[in-house]
This record gives sequence, structure tokens and C-alpha cells, in this order.
Amino acid sequence: VLIDNIGLLVTNDPDAGSGDLGERVGAAVAIDEAGTVAWIGAAGSAPEATSGGRIDAGGRCVIPGFVDAHTHLVFAGDRAGEFTARLQGRPYEAGGIRSTVDATRKASGADLLARTRHLAREALRAGTTTLEVKSGYGLTVADERKQLRVANAVEAPSLPRVVPTFLGAHVVPWEYEGRADDYVALVTGEMLDACAPLAAGCDVFCERGAFNADQARAVLAAGRQRGLDVRIHANQLETGPGAAIAAELEAASADHLTHVTDADIDGLATAGVVATLLPAAELCTRSPHAPAGRLLDAGATVALATDCNPGTSYTTSMPFVIALACLGMDMTPADALAAATVGGARALRRDDVGRLKPGLRGDLVVLDAPHYVHLAYRPGVLLTHAVVKDGHLAFTAGGGPGGEKSA
Ligand SMILES: [Zn+2]
Repeated sequence: VLIDNIGLLVTNDPDAGSGDLGERVGAAVAIDEAGTVAWIGAAGSAPEATSGGRIDAGGRCVIPGFVDAHTHLVFAGDRAGEFTARLQGRPYEAGGIRSTVDATRKASGADLLARTRHLAREALRAGTTTLEVKSGYGLTVADERKQLRVANAVEAPSLPRVVPTFLGAHVVPWEYEGRADDYVALVTGEMLDACAPLAAGCDVFCERGAFNADQARAVLAAGRQRGLDVRIHANQLETGPGAAIAAELEAASADHLTHVTDADIDGLATAGVVATLLPAAELCTRSPHAPAGRLLDAGATVALATDCNPGTSYTTSMPFVIALACLGMDMTPADALAAATVGGARALRRDDVGRLKPGLRGDLVVLDAPHYVHLAYRPGVLLTHAVVKDGHLAFTAGGGPGGEKSA
């Protein structure tokens, strides 16, 4: 497929254009039958389009597909009641997760898959082509496996590709109340043995009310031993040891980082840990935002993600997160776009997505806008004109009487 007549193309490849984003004016992108970017050049100068046809971008801006590197997409039930209570002043506590665990344990795999595909479809319509999906609402060997099987079954040509993460250490389930170490022994033993083959990463919620520093280290060491990338929910509700543990273990990412010290920031930057920031969670819990500027100034790689979950951030929209990053965390539109694409790819340790370059995946978004600044400038507006994943037209707006169609 050939995407021609691109007004502004963001490649995230500084060698291919101007600035850190590798921007090109008047460009075209050809994607081969294997779904790989084959050629990038000037508009109107492309090799003959073959069987895949041609998409006329009409002078619009084209960006790499978003890489949402932190979601809890597989769940049942909703927590609108808890949300309403929070609006009335009750603070967020980690234990709210348990009501979703109840509902998720009761749900069948087929029901969970249908629900997860619905949310994945929402994410794709907003431009997400790669999606990390965590378990963590099962908290038994069988229920964690059920969630990961669902995560692995989500992907389809018109849905985002999924990178599954094991989060058995999300909270201590009530049947282990007061016996957190026994639960950690289950997670690091039998549960990881059963779940590691279904996951690419291993995560832990290191926070008061969830898991302490020693428990978090034990979980991540066990995950790494089984070949998984390690990541950590760190410093969300208060300052704590999570960010320092991420640096010590050279984790793939440390996520949230709402409450970090300067020493934490330096540690993450030095260790090459991606700082995955989740401003929608901060908005929905009315918390302060993470210090994106200080992280970038220290040289850390920053990713932006939705943290889509039913308790504290029930959004699948990466453009909304970009708008929050610019308007709430003072990130520039260019930094926010990089964080939402190549930053997310780095958090997931994926070299093949998040950039547009020959040999990488043919994932891109045709924005219904002349410039990516509109992602922040027009908050809350769906600016997706078309989404291409692996060279396949996965979504296009205005394609029929219904106003949109699935390819
Ligand atoms: Zn999370």
C-alpha cells in the first residue's frame, strides 16, 4: 500500500528528516505485503503502487501508530460508583482493585475477550497500533492465566498488536490477607511458571497497601529469571522505593512516578529505565502530575501511556493523554508525540514499532489535521482520519453513510 500526498510526515528517525522527530514535508510511504515499511520519499515520486492500492492523505499529517505501553485492558465490571465517591472527596486507595478482581474472576474467558476487543477497537480508532496489556485482576494461578490467554487472543488485523505483561503482584488478594509473603511465594513460583510462557513482561505494584520493596524485588527477580522484561508501578501515591528499585534492576520501565525525588530521577536516567508517565490516571484521581520536565532534563527517556483501567483511568485515548501531557505537564507537542510513539516502544523494548523507517512495521495514523500540534490544540476531538497497521487499513473515518467503516 502507498500512502501518498502526506503534508507533514513524522518518522521519529532523525536521519530521515528535520528535528528529533525526523519530520518531512510533502512525503509518501510505501508498505510491502509483509506489512513492513519498504520506502519513504517525496510525495508523487513513489514506485508504482501494487495490489495494496493507494491512500491519498490529502495533505494531512501522518505519524507513527501510538504505542500505549501501560494498560489493564482485561477486566469485567466497572467502578463508576467508586469514581463518583471520589468526586465527592474520598481518596483513591490501592484496595479498590479488589472489586474488579471479583468481577474478573467470575467472568468467562469468552466474555473477557469480547470486552477486551471492544476496548482495543476503541484504542485503535484513536490511533493505537501497539498495546501493552497486563493481567492482575485474577490473582490466582488459573485466573491470571485466563487474563493472559485473553490478552494473547485479542490481536486481529484491524486491532492493535498486544504485548502481554504478567501482573500477578497487583494487590494481595483477600484470601491471603495478612499473609503477603505467602502470596509472593505463590506469585514467584507456581503462578509465574504457569504465566511466563504467555507474557513478555513482569510487573509489580510497589506501594503502601500493595507490595513492599523486598517483595517487589523478589517478584521482578523471579520474572527476569524466566526471561521476562521487568517493569514496576512506582511512586504513584507517595514517595517510596519503587523508582530506586527500577534503577537498581535496570528495569525496562518505571511507571507512574508521580512522587519522585531528584535522586530517583537521576537514578532512572543513568540506568536507562524508561519513565512511563500516566497523566490520565493523575487527572482521574485529582493527583499532581509527574515531573516530566525534570525527567527529560535529566536525560531520561519518557513514554506516555493511558493506564486504561476501570478504577483510575478509564480511557483508551492516546491523543487525550498527549493533550494532558502538554497542558498539564508542560511537555512540548513534539516531546509528547515522541513519548507516545517511540518512547512507548522503548518501554516495551520493541525496535520494530514507534518509528517509520524501511524494515520496521508499517503502522501509521493519518491525522485529520495538518500538524501533530492539533493533538494537544484540539483536546478531546477524535482526529483520526485513517489507521494503518502492518500495511492494512484498519480504520478509516468518513468511509460510508455511517461515517466510519472498518477495513
Ligand atoms: Zn497500572
